[in-house]
Amino acid sequence: MPIRYDLHTHSIASDGTLPPEQLVQRACACGVGVLALTDHDTTEGVACAATAAQAAGLRLVPGVEISVTWNHQTIHVLGLHIECACRVMQDGLAGLRAYRDWRAAEIARSLQRHGIEGAYEGARAHVRGSIISRSHFARFLVQHGYCCSVRDAFKRYLTRNGAGYVPGAWAGLEQVITWIRDAGGAAVIAHPARYRLSAARLRQLIGEFKECGGIGLEVVSGSHAPADVTTMAAHAQRYGLFASCGSDYHGPENPWVDLGCLPELPHGCTPVWRAWEDSARLA
Ligand code: AMP
Ligand code: MN
Ligand code: MN
Ligand code: MN
Repeated sequence: MPIRYDLHTHSIASDGTLPPEQLVQRACACGVGVLALTDHDTTEGVACAATAAQAAGLRLVPGVEISVTWNHQTIHVLGLHIECACRVMQDGLAGLRAYRDWRAAEIARSLQRHGIEGAYEGARAHVRGSIISRSHFARFLVQHGYCCSVRDAFKRYLTRNGAGYVPGAWAGLEQVITWIRDAGGAAVIAHPARYRLSAARLRQLIGEFKECGGIGLEVVSGSHAPADVTTMAAHAQRYGLFASCGSDYHGPENPWVDLGCLPELPHGCTPVWRAWEDSARLA
């Protein structure tokens, strides 16, 4: 049996709902052999996950999912196999977390203008780590009966044209890739099909990403349809990028995505773990 890789997951350190140690135990039960914890803009959960992984007998890849603004659009870049102690990267992530705090207050003010009181404190009550995200606002909106589901909360309040929508102003693409490389990691574009870019725009993103030192594309993702996997595999091969695979698991509340339940990388793709198995490729 080949080793099962899941290189994109979240814990309570960001907007996941399982503590890192429970995430690791569940991954182990799901047959995952190599797991990356990739919380949004924080590596807070990695140390706990690594300890739990050692006990459970699976390999933990330290990671992070970094928020980027590229061409007025939010893009997520994974840093895999990073050295969490890297000062340059940690300073950058601290800046993004400070921006999240400011944005949360803005979201709450927007919601208040639409008659929703107490959103700031209400969303904060769902935060269990060091970042506040729109997911925490969504949980607040469901809890107080404004929405029937998290999905509904995003659709009606937290995405473009919603009452609580605040456009993201994250870090630049080049800057983020520099942080990841300074931390000795592999920079990978997360769930590329989710951005709904035109083919030309996607090629532009991948071209700029590669020019800045990015080395991978998440070909297999919990949020990719089979056709997306085929498209992204072709892009990875065309641009000479490594291919990654990750569920983007956030917790058992989303039963449509579980840990490690992913199709294999298509033939012809070079798996991203080769990059750290042969560490010269990360230099
Ligand atoms: P943020 O980084 O705070 O802007 O929040 C982005 C997070 O919200 C993503 O990482 C997802 O976990 C979650 N999210 C975004 N869109 C949706 C959606 N339509 N339904 C459920 N969760 C979503
Ligand atoms: Mn998330
Ligand atoms: Mn993402
Ligand atoms: Mn994610």
